[in-house]
Amino acid sequence: MITSTTGPQPADFADVRATNLAVVLRFVREHAPCSRADIAASTGLNKATVSSLVADLIDRRLVRETGLTENRVGRPATMLVLDGSPYAAIGVEIGVDTVSAIATDLAGGRLLTWRRAFSGGDSVSQSVAGVGAIIRRVVNRMAKEERQVLGLAVAVPGLVDVQGTVRLAPSLGWHDADIGGDLAKALRDPGFPIQVDNEANLAALAEQRFGSHAGAADLVYLSGGLGVGAGIILDGRLRRGGHGYSGEIGHVQLDPDGPACHCGRRGCLEAVAGIGAVLRKDLSPAETQAEIEEVVRQARAGDPGTLARLAAVGAGLGQGVAILANLLDPAVVILGGYYVPLAPWVLPAVHEELGRRVVAPGGPEVVASTLGHDAAALGGAARVLDSLDSGRLPGGLSQTS
Ligand SMILES: [Zn+2]
Repeated sequence: MITSTTGPQPADFADVRATNLAVVLRFVREHAPCSRADIAASTGLNKATVSSLVADLIDRRLVRETGLTENRVGRPATMLVLDGSPYAAIGVEIGVDTVSAIATDLAGGRLLTWRRAFSGGDSVSQSVAGVGAIIRRVVNRMAKEERQVLGLAVAVPGLVDVQGTVRLAPSLGWHDADIGGDLAKALRDPGFPIQVDNEANLAALAEQRFGSHAGAADLVYLSGGLGVGAGIILDGRLRRGGHGYSGEIGHVQLDPDGPACHCGRRGCLEAVAGIGAVLRKDLSPAETQAEIEEVVRQARAGDPGTLARLAAVGAGLGQGVAILANLLDPAVVILGGYYVPLAPWVLPAVHEELGRRVVAPGGPEVVASTLGHDAAALGGAARVLDSLDSGRLPGGLSQTS
């Protein structure tokens, strides 16, 4: 059976207004400071409608007048900017031994950036209690600043289905865990939506909104943790696939006789070109960080063995990126996580493989992420802000949709 959730849906008047509010809000975010006349001219909405929508957004404290004016022919126009001072979006990334939390305002300005040690404990419920305690402190901090939390999105390293259930997160020892529901209970039904998504998906959203290639409509983010996952944005939208499991590029087989992968297969991209391929085995996350720094030191010093290992990683990664390029044609592929510090020695081999393997002329630009280690947490906040863009505004008529 073929089903579609993306086709046109019946809209009533409230939906139309919520959509138009979101259109105006997005325009202000992208073009502030701007006038009501600018909005009308660019969106095609008539001036009376724009005035009414702007009044609504001002009521909700999403937009404010700056007091500045722009002189035009005729009378001066009052300029509008995002307000958002009463709001916060929260993103959290759950790692093997750390939890990162970021809160932003509507424009993406950082209100809080935390990284906390976290030991998963023996069970999902212990983990959730630990993560929940950290989130509660973030929420309390926002409450102290008199900010309403618009939502929370949590990044998890693993397979997350479209309902937000964590099907499998091997590094955390989780399977079939309703983390969103458990966190809602741990936070005692906090009154804001909680979403759970794969870390690479959320990091891709962070890149799309805040990264060096912000605004790119076709972008792939490759996470470089102990696993390798892809967050895929095509035609401006995150593509999760039918079940939510897209992006498992780490388990595409590059070499049938290659090294064993933890998934039980051989020669997966992750086993050939993941960070594990340049490190000693069985390191703790803290030791991994130190080891990466040591690899960077040796590469800088020109150690031939290290340079050869990094070139091999780049060649494997280039094979994987070439598959993505031939299949999806992204404009840019962004390397994240541990690939970032290693990029100067990995990228030349990536480019060489692309030149050899990509059929179409040009091929994607491949760059290292500039967002740092908490890209997925930042992406959680971006996902909350994205739901504003799609019409779920705080307060008023659209809240129920
Ligand atoms: Zn594998």
